[in-house]
Amino acid sequence: MTGLPTQSRAVIIGGGIVGCSTAYHLAGLGWEVVLLERHKLTSGSTFHAAGLVGQLRSSANITQLLGESVKLYGRLEAETGLATGWKQNGGLRLACNAERWTEVKRQATTARSFGLEMHLLSPIEAQKLWPLMQVEDVVGAAFLPTDGQASPSDITQSLAKGARMRGAKIFEDVEVTGIETKAGRVAAVHVADQRITCEVVIVCAGQWTRDICATIGVNVPLVSVEHQYMITEAIHGVTPDLPTLRDPDRLTYYKEEVGGLVMGGYEPNPIPWALDGPPKNFNFSLLNSNWDHFTPIMELAIGRVPALETAGVKTLLNGPESFTPDGNFILGEAPELTGLFVGAGFNAFGIAAGGGAGKVLAEWVAGGAAPYDLWPVDIRRFGRNAGDVGWVRARTLEAYARHYSMAWPSEEFDSARPLRRSALYDRLRAAGACFGEKMGFERPNWFAAQGETPRDVYTYNRPNWFAAVAREHRAVREAVGVFDQSSFAKFFCTGRDAEAALSWICANNVARPPGTLVYTQMLNERGGIEGDLTVARLAEQKYYIITGTGFATHDADWISRNIPAGMDARLEDVTSAYAVLSLMGPRSREVLQSLTRDDVSNAGFPFGQVRTLHVAGAPVLALRITYVGELGWELHVPTEFAATVYDALMAAGAAYGIANCGYRAIETLRLEKGYRAWGADIGPDHTPLEAGLGWAVKLRTNKPFLGRAALEAVRGAPPAKFLCAFTVDDPAVILLGRETIHRNGERAGWLSSGGFGHTIGLPIGYGYVRHAGGVDEAYLRGADYTLEIATERVPARLHLAPLYDAGMKRVKA
Ligand SMILES: Cc1cc2nc3c(=O)[nH]c(=O)nc-3n(C[C@H](O)[C@H](O)[C@H](O)COP(=O)(O)OP(=O)(O)OC[C@H]3O[C@@H](n4cnc5c(N)ncnc54)[C@H](O)[C@@H]3O)c2cc1C
Repeated sequence: MTGLPTQSRAVIIGGGIVGCSTAYHLAGLGWEVVLLERHKLTSGSTFHAAGLVGQLRSSANITQLLGESVKLYGRLEAETGLATGWKQNGGLRLACNAERWTEVKRQATTARSFGLEMHLLSPIEAQKLWPLMQVEDVVGAAFLPTDGQASPSDITQSLAKGARMRGAKIFEDVEVTGIETKAGRVAAVHVADQRITCEVVIVCAGQWTRDICATIGVNVPLVSVEHQYMITEAIHGVTPDLPTLRDPDRLTYYKEEVGGLVMGGYEPNPIPWALDGPPKNFNFSLLNSNWDHFTPIMELAIGRVPALETAGVKTLLNGPESFTPDGNFILGEAPELTGLFVGAGFNAFGIAAGGGAGKVLAEWVAGGAAPYDLWPVDIRRFGRNAGDVGWVRARTLEAYARHYSMAWPSEEFDSARPLRRSALYDRLRAAGACFGEKMGFERPNWFAAQGETPRDVYTYNRPNWFAAVAREHRAVREAVGVFDQSSFAKFFCTGRDAEAALSWICANNVARPPGTLVYTQMLNERGGIEGDLTVARLAEQKYYIITGTGFATHDADWISRNIPAGMDARLEDVTSAYAVLSLMGPRSREVLQSLTRDDVSNAGFPFGQVRTLHVAGAPVLALRITYVGELGWELHVPTEFAATVYDALMAAGAAYGIANCGYRAIETLRLEKGYRAWGADIGPDHTPLEAGLGWAVKLRTNKPFLGRAALEAVRGAPPAKFLCAFTVDDPAVILLGRETIHRNGERAGWLSSGGFGHTIGLPIGYGYVRHAGGVDEAYLRGADYTLEIATERVPARLHLAPLYDAGMKRVKA
């Protein structure tokens, strides 16, 4: 093929908006970039997108990423001279019932937390912005002035031109037929009878990404789903400055196009496409219009915009697009293969996300790490369950159908369950468990008592499980509770250099004698928290590592990648080998002692120790540690012994008031105790010093560890943000996370997590108080605080110590 180079530092596969944006940004970072498109630029999903660009998401960083798109689209035309069709005409969102209005008000507060402008409007005010709609059923609306719309093909061509101007080489009609790997990393791409050697391959091939990556053993859990929108002839009253409109209670969205309307919707019964993978020649192609499927959406839309009833219809466009099991896109370096990056699965918001996603993906490639915490879209958020396309499709269709449904607090998916069941599943079910799911694992969230139904009833008010969680919480504080935490991700790290490797990877001191355990973070080069682990030393050359269920892939990847070259240390996932029964509460010792001849007294088995015990005849790895703030043990039980140990604990515990407890009780207990949750309170953007975890970092030693230099550089100076606890005096207030923190009336941050403490009887939130000039204790204490919740401010108290300590009923500020 003429002009194709034989080598390039980076090769991008796919010339849709995401590939072109990545090329634009990566070339801008000085990289040598070749982009290969099988057909013509935009000919995949991009050419048929509707072009709405919204920004608000439930994560601050993903909202920031979408904001990067808006910034880029605002300047691109001037930079490249190619029109983009970008119009910043704002976005409207309607609420048609009380619960939706609460959701919208909470979103408005979230937007403010993240620094995004969002105004609440009355139905009449909304109608003034969008005169064609009837608003009889509208309770209120929100308006985001910086949202907009773009022409997807134009913006992509403009990005491609900008990429070329920055030195990228873009080739059309060139299909990548294979990716060559060598020694666990990418080596080249194959194109007809040529190969291009490269350091990095970035697969931005839309719906084809899963199949391309499967050929090299990389899992990208996305599937194709049909998505339709209608384009009308010009309608009187539709003006070019009309904001985009989302009407979630009627499942529909709108934008202006050439004097007419584009109207699309999310059907509750989506239709999957290309069950065996999308055909290769599906370029500039569409599916047949499916009016039967679209009619319910059309009827809902006519109720909002009566003019649609008589408007001429140019077309009903049916285009397939890639969707994912959690409705978020997929970015990052594949854990299976070094040098293989993915940017795909854009869930019908690839135009909105393309600009920002290409930017962060390019920075990820060039910098070797995500530029900021991108966990909600990180490819490593998936686990073994997502390897099966049947599971992926079932869950994805549910996520699609829920696109416009209420995003309830604590909501669980229903589809493709149960998949992974612990050895205790049937027993816990019989005991009244209401299960949630993570990584395909069924996990008890709470237990219904006699006469209660173990089913979540979602609401923005107090949920139906509130009393059950309170019961479990009390049992753990006052007697003893047992939690099935078998879904914990667990690894052995073994080898001659296991101690040296983990000492480098972990911020705390893991070079302790066998029989001890330590709570530690893993830090990135910026000093940010990449993982939050328990590391137990079982033998000189053997460690047992425990981390959260959802972090199995991420943490294994992080540890494996950071074992220094040449060291003899291996990581093995043993999650399925051990069930975990956490026995927690002041009476836990009595229960455990009654089932073992081993000494579990404080002297015989102190805090921070790990021992093999025989419990009810079973060999149990017992870890004296707690995440709930009480005396207790995590009992790691070889799976086939789990039922025996559980039955024995329940029988022996009856005399001590033992209770089955679930994950929602863990959450309320840990909030009171001030334990941080990774992915919420702590993550790659926060250092242990900012998170109040400096005590768990071996800075006082002279031992080197990953992230040490970054912490040393800032040590001693007040950090720019600090994680604090807040309580609200009114117990009826519902804190969920993302509420805005105001310090002396000024926005100072937002809650990273929120809930209720059943011992202290108050709502609890955690959040970083931010101040560029530095945050120290005097700064934190010498101020008044309010929390903005669903746009209303309530007074709050700040706390710098745990709200609860075993033995104390309530700790005051
Ligand atoms: C009906 C509909 C409406 C939408 N409306 C909106 C909207 O309003 N707002 C919004 O933000 N998003 C919207 N979207 C979503 C948006 O279109 C997509 O998210 C976005 O276009 C995805 O871009 P991409 O670059 O990831 O994929 P694509 O555009 O599909 O690009 C992938 C490219 O990879 C190429 N390729 C595949 N295999 C190979 C190979 N082996 N070698 C070389 N090249 C290869 C393909 O030819 C293709 O051009 C909509 C989607 C649909 C279907």
